[in-house]
Amino acid sequence: MSAGVGKSGSRSGAAHGGAPPIEARGLVKRYGDLTAVDGVDLTVAPGDVYGYLGPNGAGKTTSLRMLLGLIRPTEGSVRLFGRDPLADGAAALDGVAGFVEEPRFYPYLSALKNLEMLAAYDGDGAKDRIGEALDTVELTARRRDRVGGYSHGMKQRLGIAAALLRRPRLLLLDEPATGLDPAGMRDMRALVKRLAGEGMTVMLSSHLLGEVEELCNRVAIVRSGRVIYEDQLADLLASARGEYRLETTDDSRARGLAAAQPGVSDVVIENGTIRLAAEEPAVAALSVALGAAGVGIRALVPHTATLEELFFRLTEGEEGAADPPPTLAPAEAPSREAPARVPEPVGRRA
Ligand code: ATP
Repeated sequence: MSAGVGKSGSRSGAAHGGAPPIEARGLVKRYGDLTAVDGVDLTVAPGDVYGYLGPNGAGKTTSLRMLLGLIRPTEGSVRLFGRDPLADGAAALDGVAGFVEEPRFYPYLSALKNLEMLAAYDGDGAKDRIGEALDTVELTARRRDRVGGYSHGMKQRLGIAAALLRRPRLLLLDEPATGLDPAGMRDMRALVKRLAGEGMTVMLSSHLLGEVEELCNRVAIVRSGRVIYEDQLADLLASARGEYRLETTDDSRARGLAAAQPGVSDVVIENGTIRLAAEEPAVAALSVALGAAGVGIRALVPHTATLEELFFRLTEGEEGAADPPPTLAPAEAPSREAPARVPEPVGRRA
């Protein structure tokens, strides 16, 4: 099921005294014996482009549904600009828009007609914003075409246009680039960047690491329903600096010598290479120690882990052994057709 979300509203009066766009505390969602979301705490600050990153089944969509008040948490609380989407209903969605899974439209009507219908529902001058929203997502030329004939990427962009009708200050997007071809992904990223550049706060879920690395300033990494990292993306990437890769004529002895070397830490053998963390003086001392021990150095190179490597390290720990392997999709499958369903009004909410 998917849902469009949002409520039109003036930018004024949406916030509660500078409350953050999103504040979730202790969110839990259980389905019978399955805990889909397990104690998620997160705060999205104004201006953030916040990536909610995790492998398939980690609980991203379930979390977004709770953030938007589409489903009730088993435990925990959500505040959007200080308002509770369950208790405050549509008022909590003032200034908030987005879609979960994928946006849906009447396939036999044009994009323009679909947007006109949504704007009529939204009111608050939304009709006057249709042209601008279509321009922003670069669908003006195709506005009179039936949505049923749109590509997946065009439908995703139309979903954002529908969200923009409500002049959101917070945009929530569930895997916006999933299913898009490389050009569609590029367009979607450019669009999100442009909106963020205009000051919109964005939260997007993704299992596309490149997308998160390119777009987001802050990131939460989720595994099995739990947030295992939440902070600045730059800090996460910086934590990987000061790493070296070492290849020797005797890795087993080299590993022992490295582990014993003052100033060298986190020594592990990974993919047939020794990985270690150290400052330059300690690396120099290690190279001398290796030579003195008769261990030849084939390579000793500084290495900064990519987000992808960090992601796997974080999501494939011991607990990961019991989990299905994370699915990464640098290039997604070809586009798929959205089922012919009517837009689901939320707050427009069921
Ligand atoms: P993906 O990247 O594949 O979309 P996700 O991180 O969004 O995955 P969710 O869709 O939130 O993951 O699902 C998390 C877990 O909760 C999965 O095991 C899923 O099967 C389960 N789940 C989600 N919704 C329901 C439901 N309505 N009833 C039962 N189980 C559910």
